[in-house]
Amino acid sequence: MKEKGTISIHTENIFPIIKKFLYSDHEIFLRELVSNAVDATQKVKRLASLGEFQGELGETTVDITVNKKKKTITVTDRGIGMTADEIKKYINQIAFSGATEFLEQYKDKGEDQQIIGHFGLGFYSAFMVAKKVEIITLSHKEGAEAAKWVCDGETEFEISPTKKKERGTEIILHIADDSEEFLEDSRIQGILDKYSKFLPVQIRFGQKDKSVEDGEDKDGNKKWKTIKVDNIINNTTPLWTKSPTDLKDEDYLAFYKELYPFSEDPLFWIHLNVDYPFNLTGILYFPKVKNDFELQKNKIQLYSRQVFITDEVKDIVPEFLMLLHGVIDSPDIPLNVSRSYLQSDSNVKKINTYITKKVADKLGELFKKERDSYQQKWADIGMFIKYGMISEEKFYEKAKDYALVENTKGEFYTLDEYKDKVKDNQTDKDKTAVWLYTSDADKEHGFIEAAQSRSYDVLKMDGVLDSHFINHMEQKLEKTTFKRVDADILDKLIDKGETKESVLSDKEKEDVKGVFDTAINDKNASVSVESLSPDELPVVITLPEFMRRMNDMAKTGGGSPFMMGNMPEMLTVTVNANHKMIQSIINAEGEEDKTKLASQAYDLALLSQNMLKGAKLTNFIKRSVELNSN
Ligand code: ADP
Repeated sequence: MKEKGTISIHTENIFPIIKKFLYSDHEIFLRELVSNAVDATQKVKRLASLGEFQGELGETTVDITVNKKKKTITVTDRGIGMTADEIKKYINQIAFSGATEFLEQYKDKGEDQQIIGHFGLGFYSAFMVAKKVEIITLSHKEGAEAAKWVCDGETEFEISPTKKKERGTEIILHIADDSEEFLEDSRIQGILDKYSKFLPVQIRFGQKDKSVEDGEDKDGNKKWKTIKVDNIINNTTPLWTKSPTDLKDEDYLAFYKELYPFSEDPLFWIHLNVDYPFNLTGILYFPKVKNDFELQKNKIQLYSRQVFITDEVKDIVPEFLMLLHGVIDSPDIPLNVSRSYLQSDSNVKKINTYITKKVADKLGELFKKERDSYQQKWADIGMFIKYGMISEEKFYEKAKDYALVENTKGEFYTLDEYKDKVKDNQTDKDKTAVWLYTSDADKEHGFIEAAQSRSYDVLKMDGVLDSHFINHMEQKLEKTTFKRVDADILDKLIDKGETKESVLSDKEKEDVKGVFDTAINDKNASVSVESLSPDELPVVITLPEFMRRMNDMAKTGGGSPFMMGNMPEMLTVTVNANHKMIQSIINAEGEEDKTKLASQAYDLALLSQNMLKGAKLTNFIKRSVELNSN
């Protein structure tokens, strides 16, 4: 008997409205229908394993077929199926009430709003691309009659008995004129690849060509022929669903290649597995990042029961772990809600905390068990760790025990080890430990060498995050300050309160300063004459630590809001009163010779820092040739 009815929704015709809302994301209809087919299949399997379904299970593959002539897409499953009553209940009432609710919630919001993102509309989303939908279904229940339901996209449906031999459900979409793109095989293949790659039930989309060996020709060369094979979309048991104890390194590496075919091998990985207080499984990989930050971001894929949902995991994974790769699968992440809701969802917060802790623990374990290989990977993992320490207090608390610093000799130390290492020789008169660093070992070579002549140690801090890391560590480490090796003259870099005797009288010092002021003639340079040790250069040029830091911060986007661009670099020029060359200047006859010698000493200082350029360099070379020819 044919039965007609009206779907109980209040809005006259909600399809066009829904369509408009969902405009950007029409393709999810297939994800929803395939997910339903998978659910129905899993249900019948479960019933069979419980002994509640005693029929033949048979093949359970879900089929997607496209008929270009009839302009239909059909999703066929061999799942539990539905009786006519169940269609009325689940499709007419439940499915449509879900859609009505959706409309109620969002009808007042602007159409450009990104609420839709990944809204799961279920069965109803078929109407985003179809002008008419048919359901032909046979329930698994004994003696059930097949039923057919048709709805033409208005609010009316028709339900009638039909003939169907095989258990399960066929959903036939009659594709609307404006959605014919979905009748292209490549489009369907693309959508299935995106959302269905790891579904737990086999998904088949027609057949595809495959080359197979076909004996040898008369010269003994292999022959090939092309045959048709089932085009199976998915791997039904992706690695994250398996138990870590059953898996080897090769398995993890192979799965990584499956996810990111063109990437280098990852450094290591973490297999996530929780079932309380929320459900979450997954595998997170640490990729090789070096400094190409942006390229590596947003690669984590989020799944819900093996259905791909999104690769925007911004609110679920802590910001500093966005560089990780891999998958997270959780049925507890609410997907049918907007982004702002996600941010305040307590499950999402817990997941975030859990992931942070898991990653921190894994790193700690690696450090403890395999310090050598951990050190070798430091160039890559150091960036995560530093970023994490700066941005997440909870992470800092754990990471401070295994964060490393590397010195210019390529030796690695934990913060505590380093504290001990430099304590004796690098503590100043105020009992502050001074940690020296270089941000460019080539450029600052002379200063590094000078520091090493006093057995000072110099750290390499040349990463993109290091200036921020240094600031953070100064706040965290007690009585410790960081200074770049060229921030001051050696005696002041670590001021131990010792004063050196000057060989010059005060009058001579004043004269020398005058000569240098004339020779340098630069308002951004401030000249002083000090008693340095005779083995330092005759003139040392330094850039005060605070000023350089302000410039560094401005470059990386931090720093004071009052600063417009870079400040002019104020150089501190220290003339070494105890150097023989200064003595020569005093002894030289005539102003011209004195100025020439002072210029020479100053240019040497500039040269040692790669600051001598252009006309100044040319003058220096001419002058050097002249001085050497006398
Ligand atoms: P949801 O899947 O979130 O419950 P849907 O609107 O997708 O919402 O589907 C509503 C209900 O219709 C499902 O819960 C299920 O009972 C039934 N249903 C949908 N598709 C199928 C199918 N292929 N086989 C059996 N039952 C189905």
